[in-house]
Amino acid sequence: MSHLTPLFNDEFIDLPLKRALGQVVKRRETGSKVVGAYCSYAPVELVWAMGGVPAILCAFSNAPIGKAEETLPTNLCPLIKSSFGFIELKTCPFFELTDAVVGETTCDGKKKMFELIGKHRPMYVMDLPQCPTNKGAVAYWRQSVAGFKEFLESEFHMTITESAIEKSIQESNRKNSLVEEIFAFGAHDPSIITWQEMYDVATFAVVSNGSETIAKLQEIIALLTDRREKGQYVSKENAKRVLITGCPIGGDVLKVLKLVDEEGATVVGLDNCTGLKPFLGRIDEGSDDPLMAIAKRYLQIPCACMTPNTGRFDQLKKQVSLLKPDLVIDLVLQACHTFNVEAVKVESCVRNDLGVNYLKVVTDFSTQDLGQLKTRIGAALEMS
Ligand code: SF4
Ligand code: SF4
Repeated sequence: MSHLTPLFNDEFIDLPLKRALGQVVKRRETGSKVVGAYCSYAPVELVWAMGGVPAILCAFSNAPIGKAEETLPTNLCPLIKSSFGFIELKTCPFFELTDAVVGETTCDGKKKMFELIGKHRPMYVMDLPQCPTNKGAVAYWRQSVAGFKEFLESEFHMTITESAIEKSIQESNRKNSLVEEIFAFGAHDPSIITWQEMYDVATFAVVSNGSETIAKLQEIIALLTDRREKGQYVSKENAKRVLITGCPIGGDVLKVLKLVDEEGATVVGLDNCTGLKPFLGRIDEGSDDPLMAIAKRYLQIPCACMTPNTGRFDQLKKQVSLLKPDLVIDLVLQACHTFNVEAVKVESCVRNDLGVNYLKVVTDFSTQDLGQLKTRIGAALEMS
């Protein structure tokens, strides 16, 4: 890797989260309001349209979990406990910068956690319909999108114009296409992009927009094209290829991806919400009803909280066909029931329909299962 030109320059040389934080701080210093968001269903186009900046608040550190467990049940998803613990300790730099927060009712734990943190910031909770193909679901969700717009306008004493929303939609579409293009470099064999770089790109793109972001993403595409042309690989030839699906990951749960590296394999795709998922799909441009266009696109995000969640399987099939993994690792955070139960169908899809080996990993943010994980990942790669 030492001979490679890094995808991010010195300004961005630190950890992905620090880089994202730098972006948020920079925007705040120029007067932008910071709106914390709990996940991928938050229609950030409205935040950009009001001149604000979104900050994703899902946390992946084991450190604040002890604090969270003073209030929350221990058998709760670590992502929720970590996010809550940081807020209680006032040590989440993203949350501390926020002027308001938006949450979506994706799962019960998060939904009830929103009630507990509502005392800290003005908060809007979007009621997410979880049967996305049922009659009336999109229209209902549009009301939540409109409600979020009204909340922002009232909280920050401004009007978010249709033309600003349209501009923001166009920028998102452009950005999302470029991120998708970058992730498609994962198809190269041997690999020319690492999982750390994919994670960096996704983390950067979530909190960035506008022409500078587009320019940065185009620069990354040029660098990756150069690597491809020069045959500069980041994995060994014949390294086993791994696609990661499941719950969002980051921080301490990156232990699973590091173990894949240690086994000499290469992660070729991140199919989850801290990878490609938030950048999939496009919002209709030039529509008569931009809020409806936004609602339609967001309701298509294939999270396990949805039923049926056919989009996840369509996306998995596309990813497997493009990236040609030898193994799919389905990473489920402890006590995340939706992803845990859906794993039954994911395993069947991966093994039977796609003919690829499959490993389900249920874990938290601690290090206590490192030995067991290493053995299981090593054995699954051996059999792939
Ligand atoms: S997996 Fe679902 S709940 Fe979690 S961040 Fe993604 S969309 Fe949100
Ligand atoms: S990982 Fe699962 S349980 Fe945890 S916040 Fe996301 S959807 Fe909820």
